[in-house]
Amino acid sequence: MRLQAFHKLSYGMYLVASEFEGIKTGYIANTAFQVTSKPPQIAISCHKNNKSTGTILQSGVFSISVLKKELNVKLIGDFGFMSGSDLDKFKDVDTITAKTGAPIVLDESVAWFDCEVREKTDLGSHWLIIGEVLESEQVLDEEPLTYAYYREKYKMFSPKNSPTYIEKAKLDEEKKQEEQELLAEKGGTKQAESDEAVPHVCQICGYTYDPEVGDPSLGIPPGTPFEDLPEEYKCPICSAGKEYFKKQ
Ligand code: FE
Repeated sequence: MRLQAFHKLSYGMYLVASEFEGIKTGYIANTAFQVTSKPPQIAISCHKNNKSTGTILQSGVFSISVLKKELNVKLIGDFGFMSGSDLDKFKDVDTITAKTGAPIVLDESVAWFDCEVREKTDLGSHWLIIGEVLESEQVLDEEPLTYAYYREKYKMFSPKNSPTYIEKAKLDEEKKQEEQELLAEKGGTKQAESDEAVPHVCQICGYTYDPEVGDPSLGIPPGTPFEDLPEEYKCPICSAGKEYFKKQ
């Protein structure tokens, strides 16, 4: 099986939210897809360990916000890589409540769907949940974010509980092996990259700090080696400290 093949599957990027007994939960998903048009139904795949999954099953409702292409990735960091137990994810986001009572996140979204659960199928690690759309709205006439663009631009991976999660170490191993095979074919050897130019990857969320680019969101200029970042530097996506980064 070739892991890279899975990255050729196309997806969008969504924020799925729900609320039960006054507690709001939400997570980032790339698996949300329309399965019927009459009635309009959308399926989502939710990990059984996710707090949001329990909330959706208990309340019987959920919302889907379609994320926009150029967005503030902090929203993905907060909702995709942090636990609701450590952080009030809804504190700083603009939400409304629609027909079903599910909270709908408007920040960084181009459209939303308000859904009521109709079916659920046990897939082992995940529940496949099908909801009927009771209401929908376009927030902005802008391009939605795709999973491929998210990976390419933000260099981020799926969280561990995502149905499309691929273990990064295994993917890297596969790529390294291919690279070595290619080099062997050419009869060359790879020159060691100077340590200063080596990108560092956050082991929590997969964000890559590239010294050539720096980190404009935190005012770190291009050309700053990882070692020269201030000790209090934190991953701009998941807020993990420097100690969570490893050389690529
Ligand atoms: Fe991170």
